[in-house]
Amino acid sequence: MKQLSAATIRLLSSSQVITSVVSLVKELVENSLDARATSIDVKLENYGFDKIEVRDNGDGIKAADVPVMAVKHYTSKINSHEDLQSLQTYGFRGEALGSICCIAEVSVTTKTADDDFSTQYVLDSYGHVTSQKPSHLGQGTTVTVHKLFKNLPVRKQFYSTTKKCKEEIKRVQDLLMAYGIIKPNLRIIFTHNKAVIWQKTRVSDHKMALLSVLGTAVMSSMVPFQHQCEDSEVLLSGFLPKPDSNHTLTSLSSPGRSFIFINQRLVYQKDILKLIRLYCNLTFSKDPIQSYPIFFISIIIPSSAVDVNVTPDKTQVMMQNKESVLRAVENVLMSLYGNLPGILPVENNN
Ligand code: ADP
Ligand code: MG
Repeated sequence: MKQLSAATIRLLSSSQVITSVVSLVKELVENSLDARATSIDVKLENYGFDKIEVRDNGDGIKAADVPVMAVKHYTSKINSHEDLQSLQTYGFRGEALGSICCIAEVSVTTKTADDDFSTQYVLDSYGHVTSQKPSHLGQGTTVTVHKLFKNLPVRKQFYSTTKKCKEEIKRVQDLLMAYGIIKPNLRIIFTHNKAVIWQKTRVSDHKMALLSVLGTAVMSSMVPFQHQCEDSEVLLSGFLPKPDSNHTLTSLSSPGRSFIFINQRLVYQKDILKLIRLYCNLTFSKDPIQSYPIFFISIIIPSSAVDVNVTPDKTQVMMQNKESVLRAVENVLMSLYGNLPGILPVENNN
């Protein structure tokens, strides 16, 4: 038996953190949000394979932090594992920039409020700065990625059809829409090959954000809800399809527009999704296999009751009191759609 080389270990873990174009964009956008950005531009060229660029107007990166900003396991967000108990940021492992450097070519341009001008840094595959030069960009950070998956031929091959590439653009759009909803005050522009695919201006609240993301037709068929659990510190709020709406579920259906947030984090929660789908499908009696109800649910629970470090891409979380959260979601569904199935799926994990 032999130990894997350091370079192989790096590549294996990096390719688990950055699994796709959309997961790369997600990491960069979350970094921008952690830096308190209120404006984010996402530019793709050739579906991201020629270029992915995420520009923000956030805090920027201090010159002292630049040498380690893309070195794996360096982070400005937590000091130790215990800090996850009170996590306020999307990032915490210091892995994204380092992983991207390992599977693509990366440069970072940044300026803090204290800097006189911005500087562009070119990074090598270990996340070390190899050169730097002054730049004209304003405050904030721009991460530019070329040659994505240059050393992962199978993954690159996976995107060899236009259909797959187009699906990925749609997934990036869905992702940005999700952040547009959860962060009403965020302006987003998403372009592909210089054409604007989707954009959102700053608005005052979640309702206005949903309106700008989903449009008036869809929103007129949605109903707001809010529910505070009595026995736990769990607050649910969001929008679900109106039970008496004239719209069929088909017009309110789109995979990728089922937005579930836990503590502002976009997550994949199979049980919650299943429960909402079940009630919507029975209410609107459309083809239950094909229908994906559009909805937005925000769950706020104490950060000490959530484990966000479950998967490398951070899309799954574990909740301490999952049963009571599921019961709360079902209570909301029952009061809206009536006492339909009344069954709570019980599974042990996620
Ligand atoms: P993490 O987000 O887990 O800390 P990353 O590799 O994503 O790890 O980022 C490393 C560090 O680089 C962050 O902790 C932050 O200090 C800095 N950083 C990355 N992107 C930005 C950005 N857009 N704006 C400001 N700082 C950033
Ligand atoms: Mg990060």
